[in-house]
Amino acid sequence: MKFADLHLHTNYSDGTYTPKELVEKAVKAGLSCISITDHDTVGAISEAMDVADSLGIEILPGIEISCEYELREVHILGYLIDHKSAALLKRLETLKENRINRIYKITEKLNALGINLRADDVFSVANGATVGRLHVARAMVLKGFVKTVSEAFNRFIGDNGPAFSLGFRFTPEEAIKFIRDNAGVAVLAHPYVIENEELIFKFMGLGLTGLEVYYPEHSQGEINFYLGLAKEHNLLVTGGSDCHGSAKPQVRIGSIKIPYDLVEKMKEAKERLS
Ligand code: AMP
Ligand code: FE
Ligand code: FE
Ligand code: ZN
Repeated sequence: MKFADLHLHTNYSDGTYTPKELVEKAVKAGLSCISITDHDTVGAISEAMDVADSLGIEILPGIEISCEYELREVHILGYLIDHKSAALLKRLETLKENRINRIYKITEKLNALGINLRADDVFSVANGATVGRLHVARAMVLKGFVKTVSEAFNRFIGDNGPAFSLGFRFTPEEAIKFIRDNAGVAVLAHPYVIENEELIFKFMGLGLTGLEVYYPEHSQGEINFYLGLAKEHNLLVTGGSDCHGSAKPQVRIGSIKIPYDLVEKMKEAKERLS
């Protein structure tokens, strides 16, 4: 049997492994196929592919796009996208800049709460990556404002926290169109987060093709529920660990392994869609 982990981050976004380290760890974990799904960037993919060739592991191009829906974050995964498309790369540059601007908003809110974190403290943790809240949390730990990343999210920058800022995002509609326009397959990431399956139907109407059924935070009940939904509505089933390296040490690469035939189904779907 061949297995895949289709949700992984590198240090091109808020993970800590370089693309090379990630590929080596995937091989060690016994995976035959991985997808790199960094937030709003495809920067790691070519580098990972270069290493993967000699190690006999397959890399599926991927991305995890942060969207805004009614003032909440929704993440849409784009698989098998054309990661070299000039139009795609240009659009992603804008998202990267938006993320930088958002960090100033978050640090301003933190400053107003008496936490004197500077935007530059966050940028130095991110080191050129698409910058996000996990970098803010790590910078807060480094500077001694909180003890753990979890504490930073729980007290300050979680979705309902006093220093949360959404920044400008794609809508799910724009993200799905963007993925489809670049030859990709759009999949709803960690669907438990949206708490409302009506939204899944809405997104299906916009071109969503799959659900990330297998995910560390999903209970067996949720897995069964999403499997049923996928079967009933002819949606692809995907899954992955959402490993971020040492930024979330409890989530290990390969902790979610899905059978490779789900990857084959995804490839068939891409052919049908294009
Ligand atoms: P952003 O894209 O900047 O809004 O950040 C979202 C990312 O923050 C997610 O992909 C996770 O990596 C991380 N994150 C969100 N909530 C938490 C949490 N409660 N604990 C740790 N990391 C989190
Ligand atoms: Fe993340
Ligand atoms: Fe996510
Ligand atoms: Zn993720």
